[in-house]
Amino acid sequence: MTAVRTRIAPSPTGFLHLGTARTALFSWAYARHHGGQFVLRIEDTDVARSTQDSVDQILASMRWLGLDYDEGPVYQMQRLARYHAVAEQLIAAGHAYRCYCTPDELDAMREAQRARGEKTHYDRRWRPEPGKALPAIPVGVNPVVRFCNPVDGDVTWDDLVKGPITIGNREIDDLIILRPAAEGTSNDAGALGVPTYNFAVVVDDWDMRITHVFRGDEHVNNTPWQINIFRALGVPLPQFGHCPIILGEDGLKLSKRRGAVSVTAYEEAGYLPEAMLNYLARLGWSHGDEELFSSEQMVAWFDGSHLSRSPAQWDPAKLAWVNAHYIKVADDARLAGLVARQLAARAVATTDADQLARACALFKDRCNTVVELTDWIEMLFVPVAPLPADVQAHVGEAVKPALRTLRDRLAAVDWDKASIAQAMKETLAAHALKMPQLAPAVRVLVCGRPQTPSIDAVLALFPRDTVLQRLQHV
Ligand code: GLU
Repeated sequence: MTAVRTRIAPSPTGFLHLGTARTALFSWAYARHHGGQFVLRIEDTDVARSTQDSVDQILASMRWLGLDYDEGPVYQMQRLARYHAVAEQLIAAGHAYRCYCTPDELDAMREAQRARGEKTHYDRRWRPEPGKALPAIPVGVNPVVRFCNPVDGDVTWDDLVKGPITIGNREIDDLIILRPAAEGTSNDAGALGVPTYNFAVVVDDWDMRITHVFRGDEHVNNTPWQINIFRALGVPLPQFGHCPIILGEDGLKLSKRRGAVSVTAYEEAGYLPEAMLNYLARLGWSHGDEELFSSEQMVAWFDGSHLSRSPAQWDPAKLAWVNAHYIKVADDARLAGLVARQLAARAVATTDADQLARACALFKDRCNTVVELTDWIEMLFVPVAPLPADVQAHVGEAVKPALRTLRDRLAAVDWDKASIAQAMKETLAAHALKMPQLAPAVRVLVCGRPQTPSIDAVLALFPRDTVLQRLQHV
């Protein structure tokens, strides 16, 4: 049996889109499940819109998600000579031809078709056919190369996700496979231009021996062209699987204009990569009722079955729930590193990794994101500003003497949770108060809010001086 080889082929015209990340995950998991290979290809033939910054973001996102690839990144713009050679091969075999129509001629052609009430299409005027006289080659026009698409018949494939799909050849034109060579290059020399997506993708999938193509279903309509080109080349076809789009919360297609759709945005917003992977996997794929699983488990289960045919809906609340789970089980030292980075972005310097790790252990149970965790931990390093209403509600005259006593005791005890708890207990006894009277007052003054985890544990995270100073104002 041929080894499974899959690929992800993002265009570097923006960040790594969540839909592409999901396709990458499916392709990766499928290859890993079968002990095959996964390739990264950068489809940078849209020269005007491709940027290095976008390539860097794509690579960083793949790294962050842990989607390791066995080959690549392969850049299409470094393979122009190969596309030209294959185009010449198709021309020589009568499967492609040069077309010298100018944009003005094409406009006029479409205009005339519209006037006749026809669907606009390329009328194959440069397609060589038996007994047909071709127009004279114009001077100074660099040609495109078009593929001779079969005129009749259907293209049918058994889609890995959607099942059998048939599209009639009548529906599709003689596709441009090479754009014109840049101006200034002479057509006499046969200069050829940049390939279009549908052509480059076939040459690459063939050269890279790709066996399974997973991609978004916006490419369903491109697939017949690609299949016809594969057939014209006489090379093996991969299997295709088109994953339904991801809908936003509003039921519309997830898009740049609505909400964050880049992988990096979620990293910055404090999501863990394992949570993203787990959540993305469930968007359009299932394994029984499993909701929380590792990427190793996914690899063990992902055999290409149970891919959903209907669109998945992006659900931020569920993603938050998945992320909260992974934060809860994450190693404290790792979380401390992530929190330190978030704090650094807020211009808050930290030095004590151990203190941060202890803080993460204490607060992580109540956080959906690393940003929320950082919101808690920041109070250890920057002055707090309690709401006047909280001060009024919790730091009344009745508790102030006890707060002074507590402050004096805390100045003298060993600085650990047990000693702090003991100091609080003694303070309560001395003033005949109950914990629900004292603890919220301490929280408001020291933490800036009336609710926290166990106050003795929280105080022990602070340097003693900070606590004494924040209690001083009473
Ligand atoms: N560059 C294409 C895209 O980003 C790749 C589609 C494919 O996987 O064939 O949509």
